[in-house]
Amino acid sequence: MKNILVIGALGQLGSEIALRLRQLYGDTHVVLADIRNDVNRPLVEGGPFYTVDCRDGASLSALVKKYRIDTIYHLAAILSATAEKNPQQAWDINMNGLMTALEVARENHCSLFTPSSIGAFGPTTPKKFTPQDTIQRPTSIYGVTKVAGELLCDYYHHKYDVDTRGVRYPGIISNMTPPGGGTTDYAVEIYYAALQSKHYECFLQGDTYLDMMYMPDAVNAAIQIMEADPFRLRHRNAFNVAAMSFCPEEQAAYIRTHIPEFTISYRVDPVKQAIADSWPDSLEDYAARVEWGWKPTYDLSSMTADMLKTIGERMDKGGPKP
Ligand code: NAD
Repeated sequence: MKNILVIGALGQLGSEIALRLRQLYGDTHVVLADIRNDVNRPLVEGGPFYTVDCRDGASLSALVKKYRIDTIYHLAAILSATAEKNPQQAWDINMNGLMTALEVARENHCSLFTPSSIGAFGPTTPKKFTPQDTIQRPTSIYGVTKVAGELLCDYYHHKYDVDTRGVRYPGIISNMTPPGGGTTDYAVEIYYAALQSKHYECFLQGDTYLDMMYMPDAVNAAIQIMEADPFRLRHRNAFNVAAMSFCPEEQAAYIRTHIPEFTISYRVDPVKQAIADSWPDSLEDYAARVEWGWKPTYDLSSMTADMLKTIGERMDKGGPKP
């Protein structure tokens, strides 16, 4: 039985990975940590939870020893759009937080999962079917921290034999926790707007293609790669994982198959558009498929149907809006 620590557990990805890990391994075997504790009462109260800064190595190490942790999911980070507003803070939290988690993993012989992103690519990367091993010269501070993070995780694996593993997530779409300041947040907001007002004003141009993934597949990827046989892994940090690639116009068209009156207009945010334009249109994920059996289950059609159904039912019951 694994004993797991999730750092950044109350974020968009963390809250759903933590929930699934508690279902799989038992509440008391999954310890959660985040810098805040004011959201998601069921998670905070459903098992061990600690308010900790991810740069506080002494506190994290004490938790690892107390709960005999063998696996760390490090998910605390500042995301792309927010990072661009304060690059120094983004570097501090993304890099010093990761370095702290790696040191805790090294000292306590833990495996470590941390996600990279499509943000680790840049304008000189091949845009279509971006290969696993290719040019990585991102122009956003978020991307700079993601490339540095991939290299640092590989370094800890080669130098100290720490079992580090990661995936390059595309934009993640979920109906539970709102997104945390990324360039792909529009692809979540659009479903709420479609149900609430039948109109969405999008901050990216209508023909901006980006890779996206529905949350159940993102959670599967995180857990599956940590369960994978290490002898099959030729890559580690980090695997391309792909599920679907679409632009706002296309997403709107799929929404119209459920809500024919839905309309979309555009007020482009230049900072977010510049970030999106520097990212790939679509990833090639052969290495993940061959080395640990990655396979997504949702495409744009099935995700749109599920998002509208789930959010719609919640709204009918007077549940939370984004
Ligand atoms: P999020 O912003 O929703 O959550 C991040 C969590 O980290 C928050 O709960 C926040 O409170 C916590 N946090 C921030 N600073 C902290 C600190 N100093 N100490 C402890 N906790 C702190 O982000 P997310 O979407 O859940 O992303 C998780 C990881 O996945 C990040 O590494 C992110 O770069 C990566 N990723 C996310 C996406 C996406 O679309 N959501 C895509 C690609 C990669």
